Amino acid sequence: MGVTNAQGEMQGLLDKFEDVFQPPSGLPPWRRTDHAIHVEPGKKPVNVKPYHYPHFQKGEIEKQVQQMLGIQIIQHNSSPYSSPVLLVKKKDGYHQIRVREEDVPKTAFRTHKGHYEFRVMPFDLTNAPSTFQATMNEVFRQFLRKFVLVFLDDILIYSREWSEHLGHVHQVLQVLRENGFVAKKYKCTFRQDRVGYLGHVITRDGLTVDPDKVEAIKSWPTPKNVKGKSLRELTTHTIQTPEQQRWLSRLIGYDFEICYHPGRLNNAVDALSREVGVMLMAFTQTTWGVINVVRRASAIDSELLDIRAKLQEGDDKYQGYSEQGGILLNKGRVIVPKEVALRSLLLREYHQSVSGGHAGILRTFQRLAANFFWKGMRADVKKMVGECQDCQRMKSESLSPAGLLQPLPIPEQVFEDVSLDFINGLPRSNGKEDIMVVVDRLTKYGHFFSLLRQYDSLGVARVMIQGVVKLHGIPRTMVSDRDKVF
Ligand SMILES: [Zn+2]
Repeated sequence: MGVTNAQGEMQGLLDKFEDVFQPPSGLPPWRRTDHAIHVEPGKKPVNVKPYHYPHFQKGEIEKQVQQMLGIQIIQHNSSPYSSPVLLVKKKDGYHQIRVREEDVPKTAFRTHKGHYEFRVMPFDLTNAPSTFQATMNEVFRQFLRKFVLVFLDDILIYSREWSEHLGHVHQVLQVLRENGFVAKKYKCTFRQDRVGYLGHVITRDGLTVDPDKVEAIKSWPTPKNVKGKSLRELTTHTIQTPEQQRWLSRLIGYDFEICYHPGRLNNAVDALSREVGVMLMAFTQTTWGVINVVRRASAIDSELLDIRAKLQEGDDKYQGYSEQGGILLNKGRVIVPKEVALRSLLLREYHQSVSGGHAGILRTFQRLAANFFWKGMRADVKKMVGECQDCQRMKSESLSPAGLLQPLPIPEQVFEDVSLDFINGLPRSNGKEDIMVVVDRLTKYGHFFSLLRQYDSLGVARVMIQGVVKLHGIPRTMVSDRDKVF
């Protein structure tokens, strides 16, 4: 078969399916696998005010809202739900999955100008990738692993012979058309005898690891943060709450670098830097490093590769498993491949580091298991804690009864739980000689206010409203060791 001939045949086929390569003209059709948003029974609707955006972001947000209204993927809304919006890097793709009609109000978001809801699945909705994968699996079920592999929006069609291949491509395009999916042509390649797929190169000779990927992984950047001490402190936190876990699973899909631009002194912590704050606190440097090592090890671990293949087949046994950015997850927890050094690094991090604090077996296990998963983890934790020299030494010293001090519960929202401290009797400046320090207990982000001498509770409240509540909303709890003014 001549090359020119084959090229002509493929082109002829693609021409017949020109509509599949046009931008969508309206909403995608309803499908059985449309995105559902489950809310815990009895839980109040999420309702968060819009963030404090810099002006240029406001303009951009409104522009995008108008565009989305224009193509009907959002509409005005009056539900009690409301989430603030954030500008994130745009994914290059169309919105091709509907949100189930009854769940549309739950996608509500608010900008400074209005209240809207999504009729299609926004890309970064929780579980959006799994909904997309489920839809693709359903749509291509009959072809899967016969001549089609699908990973999210990446469809690979493979055949032994050219004539067969033409037929396969035809069938796939037909399925896309029937199901109302469209593709961006410039992102497609046809008639390849060598193709990169999920970090591998597939040729007629088989599958090899993509050398570019190996290089990219080797030179994976260590996350940088340039915001100084307060953020460096944040990185000593570990992922503990479901909220942070959600961040983890969202972030490992990204190849990103955190760059905070200090700029002018801005009192208003804009939405972006707040976001960064939350992100950063979710990661210790070690956790970050580990994630990259896990990624590398996962790509060659036979057991994980096997799970990955089953997962793509839609094997029911692997419900709760998912993949993001080359990392396999089990109910949102990173699956750690069987590599002794890696696992012992994690065990040490969660037990012996500053944040680990030599906690007991159960606590160490719970914290580790909140983020990571491997078979036999509990036994490994037990062994490691049991053998920890420091713990054995401390045991003999801690026979005195525990004091009354209890650790405070871990906050989940930025500036939801704050601590107040007063530094008194400083050299007077403009009639002020006291400083009030308000620290967000989650991010350790602090605001500092000078107070007039002999401040009272009203003065403190006024400063709180001006300096904290206006920016972050009313904190849920305030902790202070002072009672003088309250
Ligand atoms: Zn210990």
